[in-house]
Amino acid sequence: MTAFDAVEVIRTKRDGGALSDEAIDWVVGAYTAGEVAEEQMAALCMAILLRGMSADEVSRWTGAMLESGSRLDLLGVGRPTVDKHSTGGVGDKITLPLAPLVAACGAAVPQLSGRGLGHTGGTLDKLESIRGWRAALTPVEFDRQLRDVGAVICAAGDDLAPADKKLYALRDVTGTVEAIPLIASSIMSKKIAEGASALVLDVKVGAGAFMKEADSARELASTMVELGEAYGMTTVALLTDMSQPLGRTAGNALEVAESVEVLAGGGPPDIVELTVTLAREMLGAVGLGTVDPADALRDGRAMDVWRAMISAQGGDPAAPLPIARETCVVSATSSGVLQRLDAFAVGVAAWRLGAGRSRKEDQVSAGAGVVMHAKVGDSVTGGEPVFTLHADSADRFHRALAALDGAYDVGPGPARRVPLVLDRIGG
Ligand code: URA
Repeated sequence: MTAFDAVEVIRTKRDGGALSDEAIDWVVGAYTAGEVAEEQMAALCMAILLRGMSADEVSRWTGAMLESGSRLDLLGVGRPTVDKHSTGGVGDKITLPLAPLVAACGAAVPQLSGRGLGHTGGTLDKLESIRGWRAALTPVEFDRQLRDVGAVICAAGDDLAPADKKLYALRDVTGTVEAIPLIASSIMSKKIAEGASALVLDVKVGAGAFMKEADSARELASTMVELGEAYGMTTVALLTDMSQPLGRTAGNALEVAESVEVLAGGGPPDIVELTVTLAREMLGAVGLGTVDPADALRDGRAMDVWRAMISAQGGDPAAPLPIARETCVVSATSSGVLQRLDAFAVGVAAWRLGAGRSRKEDQVSAGAGVVMHAKVGDSVTGGEPVFTLHADSADRFHRALAALDGAYDVGPGPARRVPLVLDRIGG
């Protein structure tokens, strides 16, 4: 491969120029191999954040990240394969009921997931609260489970877009996470490498999301849809509300319990609505649009797949979930209707209670988190609980309560309702 001068590449982007295909291939490859210094890639990421990238540049950058690792081959699975990705939000446990639901409807769902960092929880952390469940599968176990059960949620191996692992860690400490071309290529290089034939993206908008504004969420969604289609994957994105948390729980075991309620035919209406909506999109994307996922949720087929999926990874789906040792109730100071419930504040509170980690080496508490007794539009009565905080040690409550200070408003009259699904892009 032609060698470039890293400083020249940085200068080109700094001055608003376009990077050539060759320059992109070289800089991503050489950075992954340790031949471009961290400070040089940091400067390039900042130039990209400030100057942006054309559609061609983002596509080539994504391809270079993809080339840094291997791609899964799912052709032997025997069912259409479809994946889902959420850009992350508070109380977002949708993957847990969704993967078995879509598998129960005839598709195969390979979900390579990550652990949580910061105020949004990670899917693997949630599942690890189930006794015996293990996130690491060998490629043979992964293939067998996908064929036999139809749904796998497990840890991504080190060979899945290794350039992204290095680059994401660098962006995290250089204030360059927010660059849309870098977010889109980071997510899509991993999703394309997973090898599913279709992908449904759940792009969150609002206080608890990466993207606080609909316009930037729409731009991210369109960029990712274009990338998916350019790499041969049918791709659809929904923009969904993350101004308040999803469901009534934020925290690992608490969210597993809520997901199991949904699989048993109950659970909070927003979780049920989003799960069924995303399932319809996933099935439609692989030609199974005539199957109604609501039936499979009602009649227990999705629950059967959940049990099989958990057992296949060593988990005991019937085992009691961990419960935190201490609780603390926050009561409403006045009566009325809940007008606002800040997703970010609830996410930070759950994190401070022990549900999340600040550094990747940190352990999470399975039982810690926040239970919300009211959502926007619900009536609340002064003196009655709004939140119950769960933690393994009572000294966690002080900082969690500080996060929740001003996190909700109670007022007279009906609340302004925001639809759960705000827009749909692609398809
Ligand atoms: N999630 C990712 O995988 N990458 C990003 O850049 C942002 C969110």
